[in-house]
Amino acid sequence: MVNPQLNEFNNHSVKIKNKNGEIFQSFDNPDIIVLAEGANSSNAKRVGINSVQTTEARLQMAGEISLNGKGAMAKNFRSESGEQLVAYTMETKNSDKIWVVTDVHANKVDPNPDNFPLEVKDQNLAKGSTEYEARLNELKVNFEKEKSRLTRKEYKRVSSQALRINPHDLENVEISGPLERLKDPSLFFLDQRISSDAISGNNLRMVGDTVGNATPTVGGGMQMGATSHALRSIDLDVNVATIEKKLERGIISKEIAQKNILQARKTYSKNVIDDTLSWHRQGIPDMYLHISPNGAQPKKLSNNSSLAKLIDGDGTSYLNKYNQIVDNLNSEINKIKNMSEMEIKNLTAHPDPYYRIDPRSIFKVYPAYDSNAGEYILDQDGNKQVDLKGIDKYKSKAKKWAYDDYLRKTHDLSIDLWKMNHIDEPVEFLREIIPPRPKEGLEVPRGMKPYENKRYIKKLSPNDSFKNLKLANPCLQYL
Ligand SMILES: Cc1cc2nc3c(=O)[nH]c(=O)nc-3n(C[C@H](O)[C@H](O)[C@H](O)COP(=O)(O)OP(=O)(O)OC[C@H]3O[C@@H](n4cnc5c(N)ncnc54)[C@H](O)[C@@H]3O)c2cc1C
Repeated sequence: MVNPQLNEFNNHSVKIKNKNGEIFQSFDNPDIIVLAEGANSSNAKRVGINSVQTTEARLQMAGEISLNGKGAMAKNFRSESGEQLVAYTMETKNSDKIWVVTDVHANKVDPNPDNFPLEVKDQNLAKGSTEYEARLNELKVNFEKEKSRLTRKEYKRVSSQALRINPHDLENVEISGPLERLKDPSLFFLDQRISSDAISGNNLRMVGDTVGNATPTVGGGMQMGATSHALRSIDLDVNVATIEKKLERGIISKEIAQKNILQARKTYSKNVIDDTLSWHRQGIPDMYLHISPNGAQPKKLSNNSSLAKLIDGDGTSYLNKYNQIVDNLNSEINKIKNMSEMEIKNLTAHPDPYYRIDPRSIFKVYPAYDSNAGEYILDQDGNKQVDLKGIDKYKSKAKKWAYDDYLRKTHDLSIDLWKMNHIDEPVEFLREIIPPRPKEGLEVPRGMKPYENKRYIKKLSPNDSFKNLKLANPCLQYL
C-alpha cells in the first residue's frame, strides 16, 4: 500500500496494556485505528477531541429485573410532582432479564439527611483522628445501605407501573444493576453529547458512542455504531483505496492524493457527527419533557438578550429565528385549541374512517354508538354521527407534536450556533431559552456530583458573522 502520509508527524500508534499497566502489544503507526471506547473515551480526550453537551442532563436509574420478557420494548410516561417522567422497558424474548431505565427524582432515592447524615457532627472527635474516620465510615455505610433500600424500592415501584405488573408480584423478584457486577440499579445523569471531531491525525477515526452518545430514549445507540458509522467507515476505506490506486498509477500527484485523502477523512467526520445528531434530534423531546402541553411554556426572547446580537451567515439574527419558532408553536397551539368539533365532524363525515389531518398523523374515527339503545347515532341528515371522543385524544397528540417540533427546531438552532462557533456547547443556547424543569427535576442526590454548568454565550461583537468567524471546530472547517 502506498499510503501517502498527510503529515509524517501526525500519526497515532497503539499500545495495549494488561491489567497491571504493562504494555504487551504495540502497533506503530498502523493504517487504521478505530476508536470505539464508548461515551467516556479517554483516548479521544488524549488526542485532543472534545465532547460537548447538547442537552441538559436528566437523573436516571437503570437496572435489570429477573423476569421472562415477551420481547417488547416500550416507553411509559408518568406524571410526578408536576412534571412528566419517562421509563423505558427493554425485553429480550427467551431471556429471563428485563431492562428498565427510568427518570427519577432525587428525593425518591436520597436518604433523609437528619437520619442519614454524611458529616460527623460530634465536636469531641478531632478531624483526621482514628475515631473520627471510623465514625465517618459508619455514617457512609449507613447512608449507602439506606440509599440501596430506597433505590431498589423506587425501581420496583416504577418498573411495576411500566411493565403493568402488580407490585406484589415483584416483591420476591430479583433485581440488580445494569451490569453484572452491580448489585443495585444504578443512578446516572443522561445527557446528549457530541464530539467536535471524529478523526485525528492520518490514521485514527471514531465510531459509536465515542462520536456522540445518542439517547436510549429513541434506541439509536446500537444502530449508530453498528450500521451508520460502520458504513461510513467502509466508504472512507473505499475512497482512500481509490485515491491510492490513482496515485499508484500516476493519475494524480502525491500532493493531490494527500489533499483528497484529507477531504475524505473530513467528510467521514462530518457524516458520522451528523448521523449521531440526527438521532439526538429524534430524542430531544424526551430530554425536555416539561416542555409539553401541560408543562412549561417557551417564551420569546427580548432584544436585550445576548442572543439578539448573534447573526448567522445570511445576516439573520438568531433572536428572530428563535422567535419565529415560538410564533409557529403558538399559532399551531391556537389552531388546535380552536379546532371546532364541527371541523372534525366535516372532515370525518366520509365513509372511510381514516383521515389524514396532519401530514404526521392518521386520525381514526368511529361512528358514535348508543349502547343503551343498541344503535348508531345519526345526525340530522341521517348520516352516522362521528364519535367525538377521539377529538380530545387527537388534540392532545397534535399539541405534543407541536411542542416536539418546537424542541427539534430549537435543537437545530443550537447546533447551528455551535457549528458557527458562537457558543462552546449547544446546551448553552437551550439553557438560555428553555424554561428550567420544576425544582424536583433539578435536584441532585447527596453523594452524586452535580452536573457542571459551563460558561455562557461567547461575547461576540454584534458585527460578527459567519464569514468573520474563525471556525474552531476542526470537523467544520471544510463545510
Ligand atoms: C441505559 C441505557 C440504555 C440503552 N438502550 C439502548 C437501546 O435500547 N437501543 C440502542 O440501540 N442503544 C441503547 N443504548 C445505547 C447503547 O448501549 C450504546 O449506544 C452502544 O452500546 C454504544 O456502543 P459503543 O461500542 O460505541 O460503546 P460501548 O458499548 O460503550 O463500548 C465501549 C467499550 O470500550 C471499552 N473501553 C473504553 N475505553 C477503553 C480503553 N481505553 N481500552 C479498552 N477498552 C476500552 C469499554 O469498557 C466498553 O466495553 C442504551 C444505553 C444506556 C446507557
